[in-house]
Amino acid sequence: MWINPIFDILFPKFCVNCQKEGSYLCEDCFSLIDISEKQYHLLKSINCLYCPSSYDNFIVKKLINQFKYQFIKDLAKPLSFLIITYLINLDKVKILKDFVLVPIPLHKKKLKIRGFNQAEEISKELSKFLEIPVFNNILTKIKQTPAQVELKKEERKKNIRGTFFCQEPEIIQGRKILLVDDVFTTGATLEEAAGVLRRAGAREIQAAIIAHG
Ligand SMILES: [Zn+2]
Repeated sequence: MWINPIFDILFPKFCVNCQKEGSYLCEDCFSLIDISEKQYHLLKSINCLYCPSSYDNFIVKKLINQFKYQFIKDLAKPLSFLIITYLINLDKVKILKDFVLVPIPLHKKKLKIRGFNQAEEISKELSKFLEIPVFNNILTKIKQTPAQVELKKEERKKNIRGTFFCQEPEIIQGRKILLVDDVFTTGATLEEAAGVLRRAGAREIQAAIIAHG
């Protein structure tokens, strides 16, 4: 931790929206993001979906794009802060204390290109805040799939089928799981991952994402 002030001088941070120096998301720009007050029940295999914001918000979009496509790993912090603020507002912190975090995995080829798994980075931040563990290697992506954004809803479901594999079902049995991903569009990815975890014996599955598309 002691190295942070020096690090900040050498590599100052700027707000992704207004370029103000100091952090990746300044307070003024944070206040321009509407944090939702709803929880969602849209998916069959997921009891509750937590989603604080919308990809239509231009600041959220900028944050996510720079995080995923310009590989700025540190943006996991302001993005997770959106989820954390939302969970506090909804009074969900206590409820999640006996959950474990499972990030949606990337295929190893994609992981090599990006250098990090965005869902894992968000999980790490949530783990620090909620004080619950991240189960990183439970779920693996065994099939490389074309980008979901280019596909229609039915195609997405087909595209994602058989993509995930649960490595150690004995660790999952009876657990309550909070699945973590970045953006929600049709939910096909979350649904598929949740199905695999359920068949492996998970007791309850909820999910947290940054934004819906
Ligand atoms: Zn700003």
